[in-house]
Amino acid sequence: MSFREETRAWLEENCPRQMRTPGSVTNGGRHAKLGEEQRAWLDRMASKGWTAPTWPAEYGGGGLSVEDNQILTEEMRRINARAPLAGHGLTMIGPAILEFGTEEQCLEHLPKIASGEVRWCQGYSEPGAGSDLASLQCRAMADGDDYIINGSKIWTSGADQADWIFSLVRTDTAKKHEGISFMVFDMTSEGVSISPIELISGSSEFCQTFFDDVRVPKKQMISTPGNGWTVGKRLLQYERTSIGGIGGSNQKITTIDEHAMNYLGANNGKISDPAIRDAVTSLRMDEHAYQLTTRRSAEEAISSKAPTFMSSFFKVYGTEQNKERTELLVHIMGTNGLGWEGDGFNGGELGATRNWLRSKANSIEGGTSEVMLNIISKRILGLPD
Ligand SMILES: Cc1cc2nc3c(=O)[nH]c(=O)nc-3n(C[C@H](O)[C@H](O)[C@H](O)COP(=O)(O)OP(=O)(O)OC[C@H]3O[C@@H](n4cnc5c(N)ncnc54)[C@H](O)[C@@H]3O)c2cc1C
Repeated sequence: MSFREETRAWLEENCPRQMRTPGSVTNGGRHAKLGEEQRAWLDRMASKGWTAPTWPAEYGGGGLSVEDNQILTEEMRRINARAPLAGHGLTMIGPAILEFGTEEQCLEHLPKIASGEVRWCQGYSEPGAGSDLASLQCRAMADGDDYIINGSKIWTSGADQADWIFSLVRTDTAKKHEGISFMVFDMTSEGVSISPIELISGSSEFCQTFFDDVRVPKKQMISTPGNGWTVGKRLLQYERTSIGGIGGSNQKITTIDEHAMNYLGANNGKISDPAIRDAVTSLRMDEHAYQLTTRRSAEEAISSKAPTFMSSFFKVYGTEQNKERTELLVHIMGTNGLGWEGDGFNGGELGATRNWLRSKANSIEGGTSEVMLNIISKRILGLPD
């Protein structure tokens, strides 16, 4: 039996019906509340190593080649299967540990990420260090076998739900970039506290995170002291590639078509409003072209073992496309797409409003669009500083 046939048969048997409909994807972790089908889907995929299909099997991954991973993606898309797991573990810190971590660190952290046992958050930004991240002030002072960390981080997404944090800290105040190190630690460590920040979209995914004399073993540093900027920048490339990937998924495209026909009427299976039909077709074409380009780039990145500055290009384009998609959906829904609460709106409509507002943040998180354009100018187009 070919890998495609085996995969198709396995998915048919193991993907629960509810997981073949659009819906939320878990980030895992001890705070996660999963329904029965979501739990079964996560556990079954994790047992195959297919939550992290290309990671080595000894670290909880599936050990798949680029080609087989592509087949798995296509077969999941064919049955509209949801991703079994998402989050900073799979898309950011996991790949960074694979690239820079010791064997011991890989064995300690990667299996717990792939199984969904541990959820991670990102401690980069500080009240005085956003785009100019290397200005960060959070200090880590060596003390015997440990570092003692003091300072605060801001905009820490999901800190209140996370089990572990990866953080950029200053181990040397005399040097700017070379004085930064990369630490990982448990959010239940003594001295870690968090304070949620409310967003315009109504949810509270952000936190400010405080570290007061947090003692972290030196062995929890990823790479060497002073090399955190190199690790941190690479992780941002993984992050930007992942944010850029929010453009295009078969489920979302189908939903826009269906919404347009439901809200504006259909004529022979086509959206009746010609202007909206054009807009949806144009978006679908862009999304398809973009999907193919991101796939090609992902294949190149896996074979070259690391992402490139192209991640900045994808971040800009993918976020603009996501903004366009959410804007179009709200436009199609008319006043129904501008609901905040109450019986006058169904769940999908309330979700569309919040997704539209949330999409505005795409061009800020992971590095702003202006900063991405600076990187594209310098690193891809070779323009002078
Ligand atoms: C949804 C969301 C989730 C986030 N999650 C996290 C997280 O989990 N962990 C974390 O550490 N951080 C997180 N952040 C923070 C994010 O990384 C920062 O907001 C971002 O890097 C910008 O920093 P800043 O907000 O301090 O803005 P600033 O750096 O103060 O920028 C303000 C404005 O100036 C512009 N600007 C700055 N420098 C330049 C320049 N050199 N050239 C041109 N324009 C410039 C920017 O583009 C922006 O428009 C998140 C942000 C968002 C929106």
